[in-house]
Amino acid sequence: MLVTATKMLQDAKAGHYAVGQFNINNLEWTKAALTAAQECNSPIILGVTAGASKYMGGYNTAVGMIKGLIKDLNITVPVAIHLDHGSFDDCLKCIEAGFTSVMFDGSHYEIDENIAKTTEIVKLAHEAGLSVEAEVGAIGGEEDGVVGTGECADPVECKKIADLGVDFLAAGIGNIHGKYPENWAGLSFETLDAIQQLTGDLPLVLHGGTGIPEDMIKKAINLGVAKINVNTECQLAFAAATREYIEAGKDLQGKGFDPRKLLAPGAAAIKETVKTKMELFGSVNKA
Ligand SMILES: [Zn+2]
Repeated sequence: MLVTATKMLQDAKAGHYAVGQFNINNLEWTKAALTAAQECNSPIILGVTAGASKYMGGYNTAVGMIKGLIKDLNITVPVAIHLDHGSFDDCLKCIEAGFTSVMFDGSHYEIDENIAKTTEIVKLAHEAGLSVEAEVGAIGGEEDGVVGTGECADPVECKKIADLGVDFLAAGIGNIHGKYPENWAGLSFETLDAIQQLTGDLPLVLHGGTGIPEDMIKKAINLGVAKINVNTECQLAFAAATREYIEAGKDLQGKGFDPRKLLAPGAAAIKETVKTKMELFGSVNKA
C-alpha cells in the first residue's frame, strides 16, 4: 500500500519506535526490501537518491517498478517512495514522477536560503500530497557525490525549519554516511535532546544508520528519532554474499551463471539485513 511517510512517522514517534528507510538500487534491492517489510508486518520507506534513480533509468522507472512490485507481490504494509538528499530541482521532478515523499537537502545553504527554498518545496509538495523531510546541519561522509562535513545542527535553526511545516526533520548530531572511522566521537545526545525539546512532536531522522552501535540507536529512538536511514549496510551484505558465491565457484557449476541464481544470495542477504534492522528499530508488527 503506497502512502506518504507522514502518518507512519507520527505513529512511530508516538509509539517510541523508528521506521527504516532502506535505499534501493535495482529490482533485487526493491523486491528484497518489500518482501522483508511484508514478512515483518512493518511499514517501510524506500529511499531513492538522484544517483540511484539515474542508474535505474530515471524517477519514473523507480516509481513504476515499486508500484508494480507492490501490486504483483501483494504488499499490504505501508510503503513510502522517498527522494533521499534531493536538490530543489530533484524534488520538483519527483513530485511530477509520483513519489510520495521528498527530502530537500538544503543543509549546504546558509540558513536563510535553506528556509526560503524549504518553504517553497513544502508548499509544492503538500499541494501535490507528498510528505517533506528537511535537513539542518550537514551530515558527514559522502553519499552519491553529496559530501557533508559531519557537524551538529543548531537546535534554534532546527526549530526555524520545523516551523515551516516540514513533516520530519533530519539534523546532524555527529552521524555520518558510510562506514564510521575508528576515532568516531559517537552521536551527540545533548544536541538531539535540545532539538527534540524545541521541535516537540515532530519526528526526527537519523541518517547514516550503518555501524552506529545498537545502544546508541535505541537511545536515539528514545530521544525522538522516528526514521533511520540504512544504505551502506545493505550494500556490504549484498557484496559479501555475491563474493562468497563467486569465490566458491558456484557460477561455474551447471547454470550457476544465470543472473537469477547469481544474484539470489545477495538479494537474500539484503532481505536479512532489512529484517534485522526492523527488529532493532522496533517497527515489526507496526504496519
Ligand atoms: Zn543521508
